[in-house]
Formats: sequence, C-alpha cells, structure tokens
Amino acid sequence: MRALRLLDWKTEPVLVEVDEPIPGPGQVVVRIGAAGACHSDLHLMHDFEAGAVPWNPPFTLGHENAGWVHALGQGVTGLDIGQPVAVYGPWGCGTCARCQLGIDPYCENVAAAPVPGGGGGLGLDGGMAEYMLVPDARHVVALPAGLDPVLAAPLTDAGLTPYHAVRRSWGKLPPGSTAVVIGVGGLGHVGIQILKATTAARVIAVDTREAALRLAEECGADLTLPSGPDSAEEIRRATGGRGADVILDFVGADPTLALGAAAARTVGDLTIVGIGGGTLPVGFFAVPYELSIQTTYWGSRPELEEVLDLGARGLVRPKASTYSLDDALTAYHKMRDGTLEGRAVIVP
Ligand SMILES: [Zn+2]
Ligand SMILES: [Zn+2]
Repeated sequence: MRALRLLDWKTEPVLVEVDEPIPGPGQVVVRIGAAGACHSDLHLMHDFEAGAVPWNPPFTLGHENAGWVHALGQGVTGLDIGQPVAVYGPWGCGTCARCQLGIDPYCENVAAAPVPGGGGGLGLDGGMAEYMLVPDARHVVALPAGLDPVLAAPLTDAGLTPYHAVRRSWGKLPPGSTAVVIGVGGLGHVGIQILKATTAARVIAVDTREAALRLAEECGADLTLPSGPDSAEEIRRATGGRGADVILDFVGADPTLALGAAAARTVGDLTIVGIGGGTLPVGFFAVPYELSIQTTYWGSRPELEEVLDLGARGLVRPKASTYSLDDALTAYHKMRDGTLEGRAVIVP
C-alpha cells in the first residue's frame, strides 16, 4: 500500500510503498477514509531534532483519522468489518489513573504505552496511508450515523483538542460572558463553533490574517479583530472594560500569550492550546486576580464521543478541503504559507 512517511527529522515526508498491516491479538486495522493534516506535522518536518521527543522517524504521518474497520485481531469483540469508525489518537498505557479515565494524553506510565507520549502518526504509523494499524481496539470509536469520515477525521484532533479546552471552562461561560479565540486556523475555527454550540458566551476571534477573520465570522464569531497592538484594549472595550472570561490561545507565541493576559477578566481562564513555544511572565502584579492559566493537550475518549455527536448533528462542522495522498505536500505547503483555510484532509 502507499503511505506518506516521515523518514528523518528536518525533511519533508515522502510517498512510499509499504506492506499492509496485519492485526495482532487485540488490534484493529482501519481502512482509512480520511486523515487530517495538522499544523503540528509541520513542526515534525521542520523543527524537531533527535531527542526533542521520545521517538524518532521513520513513521507514517497522520494523527487524526477515520475510516472503516478492515480487519480484526484475535479476541476483538464489539466491532464489525466495514463499520465506520474514528481512531482516538493519543495512545497511553491503558491502565494508569489517567488512562482509566480515558485521558490518554496525560498517561502517567508512558513507558508502558505503545510509544511514549505519542500515537499513530506521532512515532508510530498513522493514517496517511490506505490502511492503519491501531494497536488496541479501545482506541477505535464507532461513528454516529450520518457522520462522514472526511468530517470525522478532523474532529479527532482539530475538534477534540478545542472541545476539551472549552469544556473545562464551561463553568466560566454563562450567558453574558465572553470567550476569545486567538488564532483561527485548523483548531481555532472549530473552537469557535464548539463555543457557539455548547455555551451562550459571546465569541471574539483574533487573527493576523483577513481570510481567517472571515472564516471566524462564518463559524459564528460575534466580533472579529485583526491582531495588533490595540487588540487587548479593543477586547476590554467590547466587554465593558471587564475583559474576557475565557481566552483560548491556539497560537501560544509570546505576543498572543501577552495579549491573552492583558485581555483576561479577573477569575478568568487563559488556556494555552497552541504549541508556539512562547512564555508568559506570571506574578502578583503581572496578571488579573485569580486568572487561571493552563496548557491543555488533546482530549479524552469520552469527549471524542461527545464531539463526534456534535459533528453528526451538524452543530460542529470543520471546514475541510480534501487532498489525495499525491497532493498531501501541497496541503502542508499551503499550511506553512498561511494560505490554507480551515483543515486539510488527506483522502487516500
Ligand atoms: Zn494535531
Ligand atoms: Zn496510562
């Protein structure tokens, strides 16, 4: 079969011929219907060096995947051949306290995971291929009726990651509250839809790109602001001087973190989702009183079921453009240049 593989750090992936996977006991092979292209893949290709993460190339890219059950290993029950499924992306040990709750990205025994701190497309073979081996059937989640794999695939990361970040702040988003989304890319545009679908908060979107702000409007943002030196002041003005109750930073660079802290309301949440690598000085006089600042990484398996339900009911719909395996690099180049709108989905 054909697979888009990262063969080494600091290289672009290449389309090569590899053997079709065969499921061992407890494993599942999924015929891939769609695999989302994620901004973090660009970091894998261009930024990571040996030692940055506990795993190394070669592996097949693609960590947000959906398709159909193709083959079942010995002992797997509850799944049928041909059944449409999504693949839960982060693969933990399965037995620690965090994995028991289904929040594998926070696994506390990564040495016992299939790959430490990774998953399919992140150290092990992912879904940018015709078939993908899922090492444990618990990572295979049935798709609700009517949800196409092309929409389901991005929901497993570009949907699940913002969903987890929004869900943990639900208590701070009553009617009358304001949420700010910084960075309206693959995750941010879905984040706006999730805020609109699951809370009554007013949503303000901030981005440097005009096209991204138009996408934010399409997704239901109540106010869009071009990112600039006055952004924090404009957010304060738009919130009666109070600031925003919840800020979701999908960029995570120094300027966006500073904007988040400057625009946040007391007792608010500033959640860093983007892996831009920035830092924020925190101290008594540096941030609003009782502002909670946290990172989040991906989401839990029960949350994936919830976000797939939102997708099946049409309440959340990633703006997806499809590319063949042959054109996958075009998608990544557009993403790198900032000209990709929404999510690119590879359909093998
Ligand atoms: Zn991702
Ligand atoms: Zn674990």
